[in-house]
Amino acid sequence: MIEPRLSKQWFVRMGPLAVKADEAVKRGKIRFYPHRWTKVYLNWMENIRDWCISRQIWWGHRIPVYYCKQCLNNDKIRNPKSEIRNTRKQKPGTENRGIIVSKTKPEKCPECGSTEIEQDSDVLDTWFSSWLWPFATFGWPFEQPSAISHQPSAGEKEPKTVPNDDSSSEVLRDPAKGGNSRKQKAELKYFYPTNILVTAQEIIFFWVARMVMIGIEFMKDIPFRDVYIHGTVRDDTGTKMSKSLGNIIDPIEVINQFGSDALRFSIISITAQGQDVFLSPQKFEIGRNFANKLWNASRFVLMNLKEDAVKKDLCQFAGDPALSLADKWILSRLYQALGDFTRSIESHRINDAANRIYEFIWHEFCDWYLEIAKLSIDRQHTQIILCKVLEKSLRLLHPIMPFITEEIWQRLPREHGSDSIMITSWPHMQKEFISKKVDSEMGLLINVIQAIRNLRASWHIEHNKHVDVFIKAAKKTVHSVLSENAVYITKLARIGNLNISEKIEKPRHSAVAVIKDTEIFLPLAGIIDIDKEKKRLEDKLDGLLAELKIVEGKLRNKGFISKAPEDVVQKARDRKESIKAEVSSLRKNLSSL
Ligand SMILES: [Zn+2]
Repeated sequence: MIEPRLSKQWFVRMGPLAVKADEAVKRGKIRFYPHRWTKVYLNWMENIRDWCISRQIWWGHRIPVYYCKQCLNNDKIRNPKSEIRNTRKQKPGTENRGIIVSKTKPEKCPECGSTEIEQDSDVLDTWFSSWLWPFATFGWPFEQPSAISHQPSAGEKEPKTVPNDDSSSEVLRDPAKGGNSRKQKAELKYFYPTNILVTAQEIIFFWVARMVMIGIEFMKDIPFRDVYIHGTVRDDTGTKMSKSLGNIIDPIEVINQFGSDALRFSIISITAQGQDVFLSPQKFEIGRNFANKLWNASRFVLMNLKEDAVKKDLCQFAGDPALSLADKWILSRLYQALGDFTRSIESHRINDAANRIYEFIWHEFCDWYLEIAKLSIDRQHTQIILCKVLEKSLRLLHPIMPFITEEIWQRLPREHGSDSIMITSWPHMQKEFISKKVDSEMGLLINVIQAIRNLRASWHIEHNKHVDVFIKAAKKTVHSVLSENAVYITKLARIGNLNISEKIEKPRHSAVAVIKDTEIFLPLAGIIDIDKEKKRLEDKLDGLLAELKIVEGKLRNKGFISKAPEDVVQKARDRKESIKAEVSSLRKNLSSL
C-alpha cells in the first residue's frame, strides 16, 4: 500500500526578488519578442509565491545544509527543517541549533564540537541550478573557489556550491584557480548582461523570470536585454512534434539528404516571429534549391572573372555614366535589400531577413542581372558588379547559410585581409545607389520581357523560335526607356524584329498583352498554324463550356448544396470560377486569330 507522507521542505522567499524583476520589464530594460509575452511574465511576477526548492530525487545539486545529530538530539522538539528563514540572521546554536549551512562539509559542529554530521539528503530543484546559469557558467562566485574544487573523501557525495553563503569559513583556497578566475571575471564582464535569450514560452516563468530575479540579486544587473520566444515545431497536420509521439524529423537525416545550410535556411525562412512552425520533409527543398541556385550562379561569376578587373571598389561607381540601367538597378536593389535585411535582423524578424535575401539573390540577381550580364560579360563594369554584388550578398546570407557562403567567399578575389567571411564586417550602406527612378525603369523593362515570354508560353511558341514584336508605347518616357534598352528585350525574349513606336496599329492575327498604357503585339502568322490553333482553342472552349454547364447545374441543385459536405460544395464553386477564367482567356486568344 502506498500512502502519501507529509514532510518539511526548503523554500525561497520570492516576493522581494520579484519586485525588482517586475520593474526591470516594466521599465523596458528587458523586452520580449513578440511583445505579448510581456503580459505573461508580469502576471507571474505579480502573483509570485514562495518557491519550494527541495526535491526528493537522486540527481541534482545537493542541499548545502548539514545537521549535527548531537545538537538535534538535545533539542528533539524542533524538526531540523522548520526554520530555514532564520538561518542567516541568527548565529548557529541559538535558534537553529544543529543546523549548519555550508558549501563544504564542516569537520565538526561549531556549537558542540561533535563530528557526527550529516548532509541533508534532498537535492535542489533543477531550476534552482538553472537560474544561476547566466553567471555561474563563468565561474561565479570568484572570491572563494567553489566547493566543486574541494576533493571529497572516498564515499562522500560531492557537495555543490550554493551562492550567497558567506558564513562558510571552511572553503579551501585553490591557488591554481587564481589565474583562471581573472580570465573568467573578464569574460563575465564581457558577456553579462548578454544581448538576447532565445527560448520557449513554456519556461518564461521557470527559467527566464528566475534568471532575471537572481541576476539582479547577485550581479546587481539584468542578465539579458531581449528575450526572443520562438514558436513550437509542429508536423504538417499541426501536431506538436515529440519523441514519444514519434512524429519528429531527425535533423541528422535532413542534413544527410539536403545539407545543413538547407536545413537551417528552410527552418528560418518558414518561422515567423511568434508563430508555430509546420514542418514536413518537403520544406527542406526550399533551402536545398536555394543553395544549388547560389552555387551555380557563383560558379558562373567565378568562371568569367578576370581577377585584375575586379580590384575596384563599388563606391567609385556612384554617378558613373558608363553604368547601364541593369547595373544601376542591381546596385539599387542590393542596397535596399541590405537595409531591409539589417532592419529585420535588428527587430528579430529573422524569417523576413531570410526571405528578403532569398528574393534578392534568386529573383533579382540570378533571374535578371545574371541573364543580362551574359550579354556583356567581357565588360569590366559587368565583372566588377557581378563580383561585388555576389560578395556582399554572401556576407548578408552568411548567418543563415554559414557553410556554402564561406566556401564560395573563399574562392572570390578580395583585397581586404580577412581570412574568413565570419569575421568580415557587415556591408556598409551606400544610399547614393538607391534610386526609385532606376527601379521603375527597370521594372517596366522586366514587365515587358515577362509579358512577351508569357505570350510565347500561352501560344506554345517553340523556345528557340525568334518572333517579331510591336510595342505601342504611348508615353514618351516609356518609349525612351524601352528604346534605349531594346537590346535586353530582343535578347531575353528571343525577338527577331522589335518595333517600338508611339503609334502602332495592331497587326492581323496578333497575340496581345497590355501593361498600363503600353500595348504589346506578337503577330502569330508564320509562327503558329493559325487554322490548327483556332480549331484547338475552339475544341477546348467547347469542352470547358460543357463542363461549366454541369458544374452550374450542380450548384443550382438545392439537394446538392444542402447534403454534400462543405468542402465538396466549395470545390465545385472553385471549379466554376476557374473554368470561367479559362473561358475568358481562351476567348481573348481566339479573338486574336
Ligand atoms: Zn552540535
